[in-house]
Amino acid sequence: MHIPHSEAAFTAAQHLIPGGVNSPVRAFRSVGGTPRFMQRGQGAFVWDIDNHRYIDYVLSWGPLILGHAHPEVVAQISRTAQSGTSFGTPHELETALAQLVVDVVPSIDMIRFVNSGTEACMSALRLARAYTGRSKIIKFAGNYHGHADMLLVQAGSGVATLGLPDSAGVTSATSADTLVVEYNDTATLTHLFAQYPDEIAAVIVEPVAANMGFVLPQNQFLQHIQTLCRSHGAVFIMDEVMTGFRVAVGGAQADWGLDPDLTCLGKVIGGGLPVGAYAGKRHIMEHVAPLGTMYQAGTLSGNPLAMIAGLTTLQIASQPQVFAELCAQTTALCTGISRIMHDAGIPVQIGHVGSMFGWYFVPESAPPIHNYRDAKQWVDTQRYARFFHRMLANGVYLAPSAFEAGFVSTAHTSDIITTTLEAVADAVKHC
Ligand code: PMP
Repeated sequence: MHIPHSEAAFTAAQHLIPGGVNSPVRAFRSVGGTPRFMQRGQGAFVWDIDNHRYIDYVLSWGPLILGHAHPEVVAQISRTAQSGTSFGTPHELETALAQLVVDVVPSIDMIRFVNSGTEACMSALRLARAYTGRSKIIKFAGNYHGHADMLLVQAGSGVATLGLPDSAGVTSATSADTLVVEYNDTATLTHLFAQYPDEIAAVIVEPVAANMGFVLPQNQFLQHIQTLCRSHGAVFIMDEVMTGFRVAVGGAQADWGLDPDLTCLGKVIGGGLPVGAYAGKRHIMEHVAPLGTMYQAGTLSGNPLAMIAGLTTLQIASQPQVFAELCAQTTALCTGISRIMHDAGIPVQIGHVGSMFGWYFVPESAPPIHNYRDAKQWVDTQRYARFFHRMLANGVYLAPSAFEAGFVSTAHTSDIITTTLEAVADAVKHC
């Protein structure tokens, strides 16, 4: 593709910003090539600065459930901005968004807004430790909960180990209380609770693992976590930063019939502006300052622009027929991709739930991928890279990594899905 403006912009950015990007995956390192610099988004489409148009299935990594620049969201942000962008005082839009979340997610009695999913998860774990007076936390390999030091840890093997830091700069002391288990491995989780019956403050989990590709929970995995937490006095934290308002209006916890103690939110809840939140049971949330002794604060937390963007987005997206249509389009897309790949003889494992999807290119002999170890072992990242670039040339923007989920918006009409499937039918011939 001819992208001279993106190439020049990337060169300029690399002198000033590490890798030319403000979040690593944007740099295209795992698929190769030059990242597209975007200049405009409207509905399901984005345009790069060389004026190529793409159907967007990244959607800012999930938040844009109504597509880009939804007229009502933009109008409400503009109207709100006329009266000031941030006060650092309470204001009523915070309560309005809090009320909406409490109304649609039964496990949530109280909520505290922050500015990112990272902050949400970091704070939820601090709260769990404050509430229980315990130190250890359990996370699952390949689950991402933002870049707080204690969470940048994953298992070195399939066996649960004391955590080893995943990033330079994270000290072993910081990660020493983070225990890591393979996703879907209920047996090891049970064993860890037996080993440390009174020491585990919390288990945090992505209800659908969407930061290692797309892996669904198997065999009542989430229910087992909830039961183990309840019987050992540990806090059950569902990280719904990605799945919240995407899997179902009430989040993955609604679909799987769960009742977590705490929930982390982000992405859709901010409608494209920076918002995160941690929320849950009143008796736990009451430990947050100024009510309790767990300190957490933020200069721009709950600012009016972010609150109105989230509120407007959720009011529209949570309408039952809007959400049902969104899920139907996602199903149509995945069914179509699956059929095309099958007809082309390309082995693929594809999954979707609500308005999220993902697939793995794997050899025919690969087992069903249920955890990070298997994903790393079996996934053909080179085939994904070839496919990705052909789709880009065909005007479809997918995540620039084989280990990221895809997202559909309410702006993705049947015509757009059909156009996407035509692009897929061509791309499979070249991957
Ligand atoms: N949790 C999950 C499940 C996520 O997918 C992400 C981001 N992709 C985060 C937390 C961190 O959110 P943020 O990038 O807003 O800090």
